[in-house]
This record gives sequence, C-alpha cells and structure tokens, in this order.
Amino acid sequence: MTHQLRAEYGAEGRSGGIRMWHVVRDTDLTTALCGRRMGEDADTKPEEEWGTGLRGCQQCGSLYIHEVPFHPADWERSPR
Ligand SMILES: [Zn+2]
Repeated sequence: MTHQLRAEYGAEGRSGGIRMWHVVRDTDLTTALCGRRMGEDADTKPEEEWGTGLRGCQQCGSLYIHEVPFHPADWERSPR
C-alpha cells in the first residue's frame, strides 16, 4: 500500500461530518495529491476503499489513477 485516504471536514469541523476524501501518499500523510493540507488527526482509510462509493476529491482521483494505474480493487477482477 502506497497511499491512504484522508477525510476533509466542512466548516464545522469533525462534528459537521466528512465533506470528501482526499488521497495522500504514505510518505507525506498531511499533503493530499491535489495539494491540500490535511489535518494531522483527520480520519484515514485504506486506499482500497477509493472508488467504493466514498465521495472523493476529483483532482486527487485523477492524479491517483495516474500514480496507481492498477487499482487494488481491480486486482481480483483482472485476469493474470
Ligand atoms: Zn484532493
């Protein structure tokens, strides 16, 4: 696993719920691929959950599929 998902909260912070999910690299967990600074304590999810219905940052999404052309979620489906 080379990336993780991190939550962006709305104006009300954590209590207002998660606005969307961004993708960060394992080497820099506080900077999203789109350049956004993520909170040190923002919730994280494994990258396998990207594309499973979470509301994700579009910019992170397009950058992520370039960095990870073979998404973990596709591994089981694709013939090898
Ligand atoms: Zn983003």
